[in-house]
This record gives sequence, structure tokens and C-alpha cells, in this order.
Amino acid sequence: MKPTAFDYHEPATLDEALALLAKYGTDAKALAGGQSLIPAMNFRLAAPAVLIDLNRIDALSYIQNDSGLLRIGGMTRHRTLERSEVVQGLAPLVTAAMPHVAHAAIRTRGTIGGSLAHADPAAELPAVMLALDATFVCRDVSTVRSVRASDFFTGLFSTTLQPGELLTEIDVPARSSRAAFAFDEIARRRGDFAMAGAAARVVTDASGVCTSARVALLGVGERPVLSQQVAKMLAGERPTEAAIGAAAEAASEEDIDPASDIHASSRYRRRLAAVLIRRVLARAFNSLETP
Ligand code: FAD
Repeated sequence: MKPTAFDYHEPATLDEALALLAKYGTDAKALAGGQSLIPAMNFRLAAPAVLIDLNRIDALSYIQNDSGLLRIGGMTRHRTLERSEVVQGLAPLVTAAMPHVAHAAIRTRGTIGGSLAHADPAAELPAVMLALDATFVCRDVSTVRSVRASDFFTGLFSTTLQPGELLTEIDVPARSSRAAFAFDEIARRRGDFAMAGAAARVVTDASGVCTSARVALLGVGERPVLSQQVAKMLAGERPTEAAIGAAAEAASEEDIDPASDIHASSRYRRRLAAVLIRRVLARAFNSLETP
């Protein structure tokens, strides 16, 4: 199918883009990599009257090390993130997850801002940003606000972004020296959206006791889910195989309520979640030197 007719604007600056979004309100949609929006328009699942193309706004594409804080511009392409040494150094969880995002051709166009704003519950980056406790900078023509990832995703394909707003920057807090990360997912075919996935960031003290464990899950709910059970059961504990296993089982039973669909039953997704949580936690803790 072909999309319905739309007007097209190609602003060269962020200010111009925000002014256009303010002018057209809910009639307008921002176009980033187009890897989700254009198929949706072709299937007529989306029919914006006006497209505001962000691709000429170079100022929205950057990766910066700001004294350990990682700042990523909203229009930064997936492939740029995947290959960035700055990202690898400051947020290796992002680097680990990127090869799982679609196929290379899609990653050369798709953007971090587009992926987070689209908020597909099976997408990798929303869960990764939740595990990393990232903050998102959202701007409209007159205001700038910061939203934590834990407050940003409100439901199926929905976020706190308001009409007229753009996600302009993603800030990942500086990593602690005793932090470790792991990502894993299970998809039917490489490049497909996963049936379930898990992103972990763990921190231990010098004696090897866990001080913080954040595991965010994808594909098991209407939005990415941060496991409360993992955080509660592992903080202050030695991350033994038994402790990790118990936390993974509790999380898969209590933190999520996955739906059944043509790809997997609810019960199967719970099992996948338990297995993936155990795997990412074990891998992350094992990568830290034990005293
Ligand atoms: P667009 O498609 O341009 O926009 C998506 C939505 O976000 C639109 O509503 C748009 O208005 C809005 N938007 C875009 N940028 C901003 C912004 N800065 N501020 C506010 N709103 C904005 N993704 C995965 O995560 N995992 C996968 O496994 C995966 N597999 C895929 C397989 C296929 C075959 C395809 C076609 C896509 C797949 N994707 C997958 C999606 C891909 O990662 C997209 O790039 C991503 O979801 C959207 O990014 P985009 O830049 O293309 O955004």
C-alpha cells in the first residue's frame, strides 16, 4: 500500500523543527530514521498530515563524554552507537545490545531517539536505558524537561512525550568502577524482534557483595519492565548461583505478566525471562573480579 498524502518539511535547525511541530500540533509527526514510521504509514496504521523530517539537523547527532556522563543526541543512528568507542567505554551495555537491533541495513537508518519515542515493548534500547537509569531530554518550542527512563514509558507504544515535543538527548549516568553489564535475548531469527530479552547492570563493593542490581526486561509486557525482585533480593547479598537463581525465579513470577500471542504463550515467556535473567546476572557478576 501507499501512505495517505502528507505535507513535508525539512528543517535545518532544531528551532525550526520545534516551531513546525508547534504549528501543526497533533497533525504532525517527526521523521527520524523512518524504519518504524514509514512502514506504519505504508500500512496506513499512521496517517500524519505533516511530516517534519529531522534528518538535516546535524546538531541532533552526537556522542559526547561529559566527565563520564554519556550524552547522545536524539538523531544518532543505531550503527553509530554500535561502533562508538566512547559508548563502548562508558556504556558497554548499549554496545552489547546494538547487534540485536534489527539488521545492519535498518541500523544504518534507525535512530536512538526514534526507537525510544516509538516505545516498542520488544525493542532493545528502551530496556537498556531503563537498566542504565538514563534520563531523556525532551524539548518543545518553549520548554526543556528531563524525564527518567523509569517515568518515560507509559504503555504500549506510548511515552510521556507530548505533541510538539522532541526527544533531543539521552543521558547515561557515569558508570561506577565496580559496575558490570550484560545483555541477552531470544528471537526466532537473528534480527527479528525478540520474544524476550534482559539487560543487566550490577554493582558490587570491593568485597564482592552486590550493592545494586538492575535488570530490565523486554518483550514480556506492554512496556519495558525493571525487575523489583532482582533489586530487592540481590542488594546486600553475595551473588551466588543460588541467590541469582532465586531472584530470577521470583522476578519471572512476580514482576511480569506476559501476554500470549502467536509467537509464544505467557507461560513460555515467563520461562524465557527466568532463563535470561539468570544468564545476564551470572555473566555480569562473573565479569567482575572477585577478591
Ligand atoms: P522513525 O521510524 O522515524 O520514527 C518512529 C516514531 O518515533 C515516530 O512516531 C516518530 O514521529 C517518532 N520520533 C522519531 N524520532 C523522534 C524524536 N527525536 N523525538 C520524538 N519523536 C520521535 N527495533 C528494535 O529495537 N529491535 C528490533 O529487533 C527491530 N527490528 C526491526 C526489523 C525491521 C524489519 C524493521 C523495519 C524495523 C525494526 N526495528 C527494530 C525498528 C528500528 O529499530 C527503528 O529504527 C526504530 O524503532 C525507530 O527508529 P527510527 O529512527 O527509524 O524512527
